[in-house]
Amino acid sequence: MSVVDRQEWDVVVVGAGGAGLRAAIEARERGARTAVVCKSLFGKAHTVMAEGGIAASMGNVNSGDDWQVHFRDTMRGGKFLNQWRMAELHAQEAPQRVWELETWGALFDRTKDGRISQRNFGGHEYPRLAHVGDRTGLELIRTLQQKIVSLQQEDFRETGDHESRLKVFQECTVTRVLKDGRSVSGVFGYERETGRFFVLQAPSVVIATGGIGKSFKVTSNSWEYTGDGHALALLAGAPLLNMEFVQFHPTGMVWPPSVKGILVTESVRGDGGVLRNSDGKRFMFDYVPDVFKEKYAESEEEGDRWYDDPDHNRRPPELLPRDEVARAINAEVKEGRGSPHGGVFLDVSTRMPAEVIRRRLPSMYHQFKELADVDITAEAMEVGPTCHYVMGGVAVDSDTAAARGVPGLYAAGEVAGGMHGSNRLGGNSLSDLLVFGRRAGRYAADHAAGRTDDGARARVDAAQVDAAAAEALRPFSAETREPEAGPPENPYTLHQELQQTMNDLVGIIRREPEMEQALRKLAELRARARRAGVEGHRQFNPGWHLALDLRNMLLVSECVARAALERTESRGGHTREDHPSMDRRWRRANLMCSLAGPAGDPAGPGGPGDALAADREQGVIRLERRTTEPVRPDLLALFEKEELVKYLADDELEGLGE
Ligand code: FAD
Repeated sequence: MSVVDRQEWDVVVVGAGGAGLRAAIEARERGARTAVVCKSLFGKAHTVMAEGGIAASMGNVNSGDDWQVHFRDTMRGGKFLNQWRMAELHAQEAPQRVWELETWGALFDRTKDGRISQRNFGGHEYPRLAHVGDRTGLELIRTLQQKIVSLQQEDFRETGDHESRLKVFQECTVTRVLKDGRSVSGVFGYERETGRFFVLQAPSVVIATGGIGKSFKVTSNSWEYTGDGHALALLAGAPLLNMEFVQFHPTGMVWPPSVKGILVTESVRGDGGVLRNSDGKRFMFDYVPDVFKEKYAESEEEGDRWYDDPDHNRRPPELLPRDEVARAINAEVKEGRGSPHGGVFLDVSTRMPAEVIRRRLPSMYHQFKELADVDITAEAMEVGPTCHYVMGGVAVDSDTAAARGVPGLYAAGEVAGGMHGSNRLGGNSLSDLLVFGRRAGRYAADHAAGRTDDGARARVDAAQVDAAAAEALRPFSAETREPEAGPPENPYTLHQELQQTMNDLVGIIRREPEMEQALRKLAELRARARRAGVEGHRQFNPGWHLALDLRNMLLVSECVARAALERTESRGGHTREDHPSMDRRWRRANLMCSLAGPAGDPAGPGGPGDALAADREQGVIRLERRTTEPVRPDLLALFEKEELVKYLADDELEGLGE
């Protein structure tokens, strides 16, 4: 088969966003020869789009903040479904990761006394987000990129080759994780520009591919978010955890149609912006749920006072966690109190001087001016929910980021599940990807170090490489493969139908019959996707790339729909109209998705070419319930018992004293 390039590395990192770059830096610093592969140009990952900031309890703006408060906020935000050990490590290590970025050259906004400034965000008790205006992700990536270049310069001085220990393969897509028995042996992929195939052999692979938003029609996510890493893990035999939890950010642009879904950062509300309906009412005061009643203001006056005196007032309900705000907006629009284009109004113009708005929210100012011809210093924005983030993901070991069941496979960043429970707090993704990116790099390097001699290194199986190449080439032979089945399917049409299905039937408010309908439609799309055909050749052919991405989006969408149908309660990013309350009995239930049939076997179910098997009407995903570990008592002791009663199941409460 036509594999043009085959190289050997210790660690391969798939993805060059914040998680991937932080993992690569760590692995290289621990002595592992590290390759980074990314779909887009180096420095252009989705992380660049992050606006508001990095959550870390440095206590620079309010000294009351510490890791325990951050841990509590994160668990509350996730409605106690978080893998508590991840939430603990994240809260403890995030400040160190931010300070480290500063030593690597990041230029954060400052407080008056010269410390890193921190801003308010939904669900965070104190101002906690280290930021650079509303372009924090750009600075984060710039800093990590610069660190990588400095390591490469160091390597050049020692070896005469910049890329001897750390190399970035940009504009390359990985389509398969290769295995030797149960363990990882490398990755297979193609160069987007030339279409040529490559194999990178390595005993450790870190998946850091981000999210799944492109399976939904209205999304804030970039073109890269086709759930590749989720699917790569599934196909390699690693289960996905709690995929029903998809975050719909409350504030995306709703107008004009061409930009629908583009994010309006939460910093707008953190800095004083308010939500109003068509009657001009600040409606969020009507939507504070019981579990949060004590922590949020009851009147506009109290909420407004909080911005200047947070120690003696409660925060405004516009800063409730995202799931609450998104549901409230949805309800207002449904009740007929929406804005002209089907959203609600988000107003900063009456809350801050124009000059302050332009300084604190420069990207938002330009985004609305250029894309919608709206001057946010003079008029309100129109906003509505948009698919933004996936809390579900690869099931990993909390300390090491190792994917369950596949030695040598690691996952970090948005692609990993568990850290955020049922709902992520804003700012907790950038901190998550720094904390767990570093951990994944460290343990992947350790794993590879144990396999330095030839005998212990995993081998690449030629049959798997051939099967992966055949799978990648399938779209070019759709015309001739099954002529009796009709003309080949257009990948763009299939993608549009998939996005519409997920948006309409597995979106922000879910109902049993609709999710069943979605699963039937996904089975139909899977069958049709086997005949997705493209014309032309392998040199930069976007239709071909999409045809290959469809496999991933279909697998991931089935996981979301299946898990959403199974979980008969509403919690965080999962809202069931037919089961509208949170049910404490579900707190310890994790839903694990894996491929039905033996995974990773090229000839068997889950092997190349079979992931979209048309004949399996029942779908290709198997769902299992697993019970989580009980939360460690010293962590539970950080909460009042009255609060725990709202979340924990009866058997968990029995163990707590009075
Ligand atoms: P990414 O940064 O998306 O990187 C994924 C990488 O994987 C890319 O390099 C991509 O090319 C590569 N890749 C994907 N598939 C493949 C493949 N098959 N082969 C090879 N490479 C592949 N979070 C916060 O905490 N604070 C914020 O202020 C914030 N603001 C946001 C604003 C916007 C508009 C959006 C959309 C999100 C925001 N988020 C924010 C969320 C946060 O940006 C993301 O969750 C985070 O950046 C994900 O980082 P990552 O490293 O996991 O993935």
